[in-house]
Amino acid sequence: MTSGLPRGGRRWRVAILGATGAVGQTFIRLLANHPWFDVVEVAASERSEGKRYADAARWLEGEMPQRIAGMTVLPTDAGRVTAPIVFSALDSSVAGDVERAFAAAGKFVLSNAKNFRMEDDVPLVIPEVNAGHLALLDRQRRERGWSGAIVTNANCAATVAAMALAPLHERFELDTLFLMTMQAVSGAGYPGVASLDILGNVIPFIADEEPKLEREMCKLLGRFDDGAVTPAAMRVSAQTNRVAVEHGHTVCIAASFRDRPTASLAINALREWKGAEETWNLPSRPEFPLTVTEEVNRPQPRRDVAAGGGMTVTVGRVRDDPVLHLRMVALGHNTIRGAAGGSVMNAELLASTGRLGAA
Ligand code: NAP
Repeated sequence: MTSGLPRGGRRWRVAILGATGAVGQTFIRLLANHPWFDVVEVAASERSEGKRYADAARWLEGEMPQRIAGMTVLPTDAGRVTAPIVFSALDSSVAGDVERAFAAAGKFVLSNAKNFRMEDDVPLVIPEVNAGHLALLDRQRRERGWSGAIVTNANCAATVAAMALAPLHERFELDTLFLMTMQAVSGAGYPGVASLDILGNVIPFIADEEPKLEREMCKLLGRFDDGAVTPAAMRVSAQTNRVAVEHGHTVCIAASFRDRPTASLAINALREWKGAEETWNLPSRPEFPLTVTEEVNRPQPRRDVAAGGGMTVTVGRVRDDPVLHLRMVALGHNTIRGAAGGSVMNAELLASTGRLGAA
């Protein structure tokens, strides 16, 4: 992590909504020693409200930071949370109303939920891929009259696929895309999928996941111009599966392009990709947003999910395809790059581009 503070040399007070869940806990771990952000409040449902965090959360991984363990869980209420920056790991059944209320109350909301992602005036951001989409915020605040704002990150599988494809789309322009996912159980939150449903099993259905992937890919890889994002003009077909893996979504990709690349040109494009320049010095930015492996049996969740502290997407098996042009396999950490880590990096991008203002 880079430790230099952004312009103005200040730190920000932040809160976590949905702090007790799988993504909420990942926020707590990632923000424990963050150079710019201090977690000052945690909030969750009525079930948890008023309890010590340590009593409300069933902690899933590593050590719970002592400072957070002793905090009292607040209600998810914009009138009670004082921090100006709010990371939302809320269930989508409540995220819509709650996030709107927080933005109207002047908070910057960094959301993981699906509710606002496809709204025309809401940035759907993976910093290295489309940092420029943050410019939608001017329109959002003007049209909605909010003093705060909502910035969303993408569906976890869409994040992995979009990072693997961004360098190829930039150079060769995607035309047709087939995505087939194998998604970890932690993607379903906690307690998530019943063990008797998933052990030794593959479930070829994840509610609402396929349409999300198909829509979000086009917006993520779209172009910001003249106050709007024009979605990438490509056809996308997605099939999603839940598999008995703890962390890490694997995406098998087949694609054709307007300008057909050879496999070796594609590998070079992936290797050379540095992502948007605005991200190069952000604290959560991994040295390599993508790594390309030429080992024939990689990437694998067990071996590759922790690359770049969970922020690097690993791409392998890049080769010609007998039906479309290219095929490959991409893997990324769903609760880190695909959720909390992506959101933290979005907040860093807001801070480093001066958009948090006096928040
Ligand atoms: P989760 O483990 O089920 O956690 C849900 C959180 O929401 C809990 O803190 C819960 O609090 C809170 N909550 C539920 N109902 C609430 C209500 N009525 N009012 C206030 N808080 C409420 O889910 P998750 O996996 O962390 O996912 C959180 C969000 O991130 C979801 O929108 C999900 O789609 C998205 N997401 C998840 C992943 C992933 O890999 N898991 C990746 C990308 C995006 P209590 O503990 O008090 O009930």
